[in-house]
Amino acid sequence: MTTSQAGTIEQLKGGFTGEILLPGDGAYDSARQIWNAMIDKRPAIIARCATTSDVVRGVNFARDKGLLLAVRGGGHHIAGNALCNDGLVVDLSKMKAAHVDPAGRRVTIEGGATLADLDAATQAHGLATPVGINSTTGIAGLTLGGGFGWLSRKYGMTVDNLESAEVVTAAGEVVRASATEHSDLFWALRGGGGNFGVVTRFEFRLHPVGPNVLSGLIVYPFSEAKRVLQQYRDFVAKAPDELTVWTVLRQAPPLPFLPAEVHGKKIIALALIHADDPEEGERLIKPLHKFGTILGEHVGVQPYLAWQQTFDPLLTAGARNYWKSHNLSKLEDGLFDAIIEYAGKLPSPQCEIFIAAIGGATARPASDSAAYTHRDATFVMNVHSRWENQEDDKHGIGWARDFFNATTPFANGGAYVNFLTADEGDRVRAAYGPNYERLAQVKRRYDPENLFRMNQNIAPA
Ligand SMILES: Cc1cc2nc3c(=O)[nH]c(=O)nc-3n(C[C@H](O)[C@H](O)[C@H](O)COP(=O)(O)OP(=O)(O)OC[C@H]3O[C@@H](n4cnc5c(N)ncnc54)[C@H](O)[C@@H]3O)c2cc1C
Repeated sequence: MTTSQAGTIEQLKGGFTGEILLPGDGAYDSARQIWNAMIDKRPAIIARCATTSDVVRGVNFARDKGLLLAVRGGGHHIAGNALCNDGLVVDLSKMKAAHVDPAGRRVTIEGGATLADLDAATQAHGLATPVGINSTTGIAGLTLGGGFGWLSRKYGMTVDNLESAEVVTAAGEVVRASATEHSDLFWALRGGGGNFGVVTRFEFRLHPVGPNVLSGLIVYPFSEAKRVLQQYRDFVAKAPDELTVWTVLRQAPPLPFLPAEVHGKKIIALALIHADDPEEGERLIKPLHKFGTILGEHVGVQPYLAWQQTFDPLLTAGARNYWKSHNLSKLEDGLFDAIIEYAGKLPSPQCEIFIAAIGGATARPASDSAAYTHRDATFVMNVHSRWENQEDDKHGIGWARDFFNATTPFANGGAYVNFLTADEGDRVRAAYGPNYERLAQVKRRYDPENLFRMNQNIAPA
């Protein structure tokens, strides 16, 4: 930032109701920390907004002063675009207010809310909408990239449940996007990954869920991984939309339901939820008990809210993380062999390979019904490479890349924009797929100068 730019910060402060943080301010260093500790960026200004007007002020200031602009929701994206060096961060993390209309089955929630904020507000009424599996994730980034989790097979992607959004455009205008207002923008927001403006408020449709659901984990020995995976493939192919089962291969954490001798050993686990009558769920999951030797099981009827937070302790902020992911349309034996080979040489105790089963309601809309195009991805496989110390970067990153390359022949070529790392610019086209050209047209209309470019960027047509 130049001296003249700095001299005009007072202009930004005037009328700003949130907090403006500059290097040297007490809260500046904590405000520039995000989930992935590999990201170490030093913005010139962090504008912690309290209202939509603050967001407008931040956007106008960055545009008029020619500052690079980043937008922060929950700060979870692995690529670290929630921050920028030298420029201005419009930080929504204090904007979390939620309002539920139980009779109309709708929630409106501000753009800095986490999944925990959303779930808490909606579950108070026995309602929910499909979101991700780690409750500290931001609703904004998750939704704008598509969004999937435990309820997606039954109720679709998060974007499939979006009714409307309040957006601050690059011109600093506040518009409402929905099926009938700015419908091209509404289409683009639903998978276009933060390219089109700052979303200050989301409105979602809600569904009756729980509040108690059958859910939990079943753990088998790593030595039986191949036959567990093969049976898993056959099982999920026939599972109803209400039942979702994901697979994880990793070292066993010291979970109380696992015998001490299993802690730290490689395992394969199934994580499951039945989003309907628990008794029916019990009946449906019976075959899982015959998949192999059960080392431990923790399945029962528990609050949906608790299940939504089950994986939080394994996914805390502050570690160094590198991911690689593939969209899959089928699970082949060759894929299982590669998974087993690479799970056999995990670079750290925190690393994991997981296969998320989506399909069901996520696969039914047309591929151009929203910007999120990957209706053929019935599974998303993500490799979480995760470690503590910088000297382990090369090893952790190398393992993930090698695994990614080894499994590319079994993938369908699509990519999930919310899982792309900073060095995967070559996969951005694959992330937007055949919708890219239309997205570029919408980008030209709403952001012709590409003000919103700290993202998996779509160049204006
Ligand atoms: C531990 C963990 C678990 C995850 N699990 C899942 C999962 O189960 N399912 C799933 O679908 N995804 C999952 N994700 C991926 C997640 O969807 C993305 O990381 C998502 O971008 C997070 O959103 P955020 O607001 O927290 O991130 P941020 O880093 O704050 O935002 C990501 C990008 O979105 C844009 N953005 C953020 N806020 C706004 C806004 N208000 N308006 C406009 N643009 C904005 C910006 O371009 C920003 O760079 C997970 C991520 C992590 C780290």
